[in-house]
Amino acid sequence: MTTKPLPIDSKTIRQLAETYPTPFHLYDEKSIRANARRLNAAFAWCEGFKEYFAVKATPNPHLIKILKEEGFGVDCSSIAELVLSERIGLTGDEIMFTSNNTPANEFAKAKELGAILNLDDFTHIEFLDKYVGMPKTICFRYNPGPLREGNVIIGSPEEAKYGFTRSQLLEAYGICKSRGVERFGLHTMVASNELNHEFFVETARMLFELAVEIKQLHGIQLDFVNLGGGIGIPYRPEDQAIDLEKLGADIKAEYDRLQVAPLNVLMENGRMVTGPYGCLVTKAIHKKDIYKNYIGVDACMANLMRPGMYEAYHHISVLGKESATHDRTYDVVGSLCENNDKFAVDRQLPQIDIDDLVVIHDTGAHGHSMGFQYNGKLRSAELLLKEDGSAQEIRRAETLDDYFATLEFPTV
Ligand SMILES: *Cc1c(COP(=O)(O)O)cnc(C)c1O
Repeated sequence: MTTKPLPIDSKTIRQLAETYPTPFHLYDEKSIRANARRLNAAFAWCEGFKEYFAVKATPNPHLIKILKEEGFGVDCSSIAELVLSERIGLTGDEIMFTSNNTPANEFAKAKELGAILNLDDFTHIEFLDKYVGMPKTICFRYNPGPLREGNVIIGSPEEAKYGFTRSQLLEAYGICKSRGVERFGLHTMVASNELNHEFFVETARMLFELAVEIKQLHGIQLDFVNLGGGIGIPYRPEDQAIDLEKLGADIKAEYDRLQVAPLNVLMENGRMVTGPYGCLVTKAIHKKDIYKNYIGVDACMANLMRPGMYEAYHHISVLGKESATHDRTYDVVGSLCENNDKFAVDRQLPQIDIDDLVVIHDTGAHGHSMGFQYNGKLRSAELLLKEDGSAQEIRRAETLDDYFATLEFPTV
């Protein structure tokens, strides 16, 4: 039997489900803070280390405020994410703008906030200069192409739409230096949800070596390298989490060996920051036995898209039956008129009865945020379990009025 501890104890979840209608996403402040401190401590050897939380993972200002208090900045890729960050009071070097296929008004907003502009393409140098003017600080996203292997979610770097080629990158620093840029960074993001430790050490090594080459070529001392995000989380009970302390130590060894100081090391993780510390609480509302056995829950793919989109595994616990024999095989499904609206396929679970609370694990990142309104399904509320044990609704559930709000159509 495969078990995985709940991120929040079952008694608390049950009490919340009595107060708030299911489905809802639930996050745990205490473990988010503890994890943030662990990451900062693992890289404390680098004085300028900063994690820029990838806003898209969980774009809720209440959560981002907590991360800001832990010293994190934000990584934004759209105007909405920039404005959200602005409203929390983040500005300047606290914001990394890592976008792609970027409209001019988004560059303008990022520049107005003093964000670090991380360009995705060589032609964006001209574009930026033309529409908003060159900034004082600039960063480029490197795509190593055939030099590195990617992984399932992000694809092989050669097939990925992101970043500069190596020769474009080397040329770009010279061009921007001659146009008055004073401070430079280098970024890459070649994997997503990766649990291979060596992969991240190799990424750091690749960027450190490039930093050395750029110095030799242009006489530019880079201000920082941004190792990107992509640290995976153990979605499956048998998965091993990345050992952050070992990662910090192994990257430091490369940093020292290649003598790249003074160079700041930055990261922009989303998933590993909040992913394991959130869950989706839903209720069984139907049982259906045809060629297979189905459990219908009151959440659907609009609340959590990863299983339907990537066939991603999310562990499921049935509250009160965590240690019961898992002797049933179910598909756990939502109500969309789409056959991929399934949270689990052929999953071994205990017998599920109507009204059982079914908790879907690891939805703290890329969960609620990927929601959509197809089939008129509304996005759920988000709750935060605070350090003092109280719960706060940090986003209400959408209503039908929200759904109809954009329609220019008179009501009868
Ligand atoms: C999505 C994304 C991240 C965060 O990815 P995680 O897998 O959540 O760590 C960071 N940087 C960029 C550019 C991204 O697109």
